[in-house]
Amino acid sequence: MGTNNTARTVVITLLSTALAMMATPAAMADEPKVLYLTFDDGTGTDTETVLDVLQGFHAKATFFALGENVTRNPAPAKRALAEGHVVANHTWSHKDLTTLDDAEFDAEVDKGTEAIRSIGSPSNCLRPPYGAVNDRVNQKIKDKGLIRKLWNVDTEDWTKPGADVIAKRIVDSPEGSVVLMHDGPTDRGQTVEALKIALPQLVQQGYEFVTLPPC
Ligand SMILES: [Zn+2]
Repeated sequence: MGTNNTARTVVITLLSTALAMMATPAAMADEPKVLYLTFDDGTGTDTETVLDVLQGFHAKATFFALGENVTRNPAPAKRALAEGHVVANHTWSHKDLTTLDDAEFDAEVDKGTEAIRSIGSPSNCLRPPYGAVNDRVNQKIKDKGLIRKLWNVDTEDWTKPGADVIAKRIVDSPEGSVVLMHDGPTDRGQTVEALKIALPQLVQQGYEFVTLPPC
């Protein structure tokens, strides 16, 4: 008797699992799952490689670029814009905004804005370097009519932990996450390889990759 009950429980469990698996794709079709891929500190030598990978998966991303990099070499940022990505402000040269006096703050942020305007980006989003903010910085960003954008998943790709590790952090991101990666200014080969691993898996799971609203 005990054995029969156990067998019955196993059958019921298997059936429930099968039904749950059948139900999931229908739910996914109704509402696509979204991730917001963001790339900081570019543009750089790997930006165009990142763009090539994104293109292969119809993925759109948000690039928080440094003004000095965009000004030095505008082509990658212009290509990103032309392909439907957002190019937003990550300041001129990546200084911690909480350490700057008013004049320095204005120079860093305004020159960053001018740089992205010069390549045709209308974005009003700003990501403060290191995510470093305080009440004063937040207020000054608001006073300039800019929108502060941080992240909730940090892949720590800049520590070069290996493409597999970065890919797992991307894939494991909760639905709707803002994922922090880097496309510059130096070698981001591991990030590129991680995208090649993660994006096909996420597409398979029904994910779409869109630019960060309202940037
Ligand atoms: Zn940064």
